[in-house]
Amino acid sequence: MLDKEPIKRVLIIGAGIAGMQAALDIANSGYEVVLVDKLPSVGGRMAQLSETFPTLDCAQCILTPRTVEVGHHENIQLVTYSEVEDVTGEIGDFRVRIRRYPAYVDWDVCTGCGLCQEKCPKRVVSEFEGEMGRRKAIYTLSPQAVPNKPVLDRDNCIYFERGKCRACEKLCPVGAIDFEQEETIIEERVGCIIVATGYDLYPMEELGEYGHGRVPDVIDGLAFERLLSASGPTAGKVLRPSDGQEPKEVVFVQCAGSRDPELGMPYCSKICCMYTAKHAMLYKHRVHDGQAYIFYIDIRSAGKYYEEFVQRAMEEDRVLFLRGKVSKIFREDGKVVVWGVDTLSDRQVEVAADLVVLATAMVPKEGTRELAEMLGLETDEFGFFTEIEGNMQPVETLRPGIFLAGAGIGPKDIPETVAQASGAAAKVLSLFAQWSGVAEEIAVLAKVEAL
Ligand SMILES: Cc1cc2nc3c(=O)[nH]c(=O)nc-3n(C[C@H](O)[C@H](O)[C@H](O)COP(=O)(O)OP(=O)(O)OC[C@H]3O[C@@H](n4cnc5c(N)ncnc54)[C@H](O)[C@@H]3O)c2cc1C
Repeated sequence: MLDKEPIKRVLIIGAGIAGMQAALDIANSGYEVVLVDKLPSVGGRMAQLSETFPTLDCAQCILTPRTVEVGHHENIQLVTYSEVEDVTGEIGDFRVRIRRYPAYVDWDVCTGCGLCQEKCPKRVVSEFEGEMGRRKAIYTLSPQAVPNKPVLDRDNCIYFERGKCRACEKLCPVGAIDFEQEETIIEERVGCIIVATGYDLYPMEELGEYGHGRVPDVIDGLAFERLLSASGPTAGKVLRPSDGQEPKEVVFVQCAGSRDPELGMPYCSKICCMYTAKHAMLYKHRVHDGQAYIFYIDIRSAGKYYEEFVQRAMEEDRVLFLRGKVSKIFREDGKVVVWGVDTLSDRQVEVAADLVVLATAMVPKEGTRELAEMLGLETDEFGFFTEIEGNMQPVETLRPGIFLAGAGIGPKDIPETVAQASGAAAKVLSLFAQWSGVAEEIAVLAKVEAL
């Protein structure tokens, strides 16, 4: 039995769809949540998606109600642009140190009017939008950002570089710009922790046969999502990065890195078959006279309505599926040439494409191993968080009171992520229910001892 009253409050690290779902489940049950994300706004990777398989729901339309609810919930303390740097204590009483990075904007004063971004003279490639997107040195991740407050990227700010500019400060109508702002440390006490730090994509630079990320018009899946997205850099038009022309032949390459023991990733990234079918389908919906090719090893479409979705891509949208591995991608005469083998017909295939989209492997978010070490958790050989036991305890860790959810445990789609996040939240709420009697028991014991 616990000897002091446990704290019925939760820290959630990562505010992607997993972290947000867990936060809402717990907050709606009446408990406080501290939700931390290292990015300036919430939503994680789902905020970058255009439409989601297998329903082709607009991702932003199903995500926004949740980001808005998270942003306004009285039981959720949102701590973005921040990282957890130390956790001590134990289940029922963890002490947490959070480092908040300087946004150089006083968010309590800022109204989110966007004037600073409009007038900032410095434009750089946007990490969120991919190669075709540009952002200013002072920016929000997207127009729908929650919180809708900008951060100033010190490394690209003309004032920090050369000592003059301060255009944002001059034009801010409420005086929210603060070039002197420093990092702050926030200390919190919580009874449980949920880790939901998600995934990255394997860097194209590491993929030699696909041109080391240096061949123009070879992009990854998330960059293609932004091209498809109405709020993306091309307002939903599929255009190729090198010259802004509409690509008439697009090659999609599955298993770019996944299922490749030589690269150290023998595992299947599980969702690429589905999102590649979605990409090819959405491309055809936008470019009716275009041709989409998919190179695949085999199609893994295990999920409700998933197989039907892939069939639809083949039959209705006439996507050409080529069973085989791509051996080389290179630039020739303004085209991206893809060499591969069609293993069904046993023929060499060459496609001179306008655009190539690589379904690169899902890998753990950068910093996962360090975070695991700090929290006293384990990671597997690929760097994903390890659950106690995949079959029966899929969200629990060896450290009591710390739970896992989402793609940080391994590749997964949104429905599985959401289900897992609700599972982790349920584990926390079940502990809180068990702890409800502890305060009374401690009081009774104290009385008995006093007699
Ligand atoms: C190209 C592509 C298309 C896809 N399309 C679909 C689709 O159509 N349908 C579908 O079901 N799935 C799709 N997915 C999968 C979907 O993106 C994931 O299932 C989902 O985003 C996983 O959510 P998550 O919250 O676990 O992780 P993430 O979305 O990665 O969120 C993790 C969050 O944690 C934060 N974070 C990370 N580390 C830290 C830290 N140390 N401290 C604080 N915060 C941290 C990150 O900033 C991020 O906000 C697609 C994936 C890709 C790559």
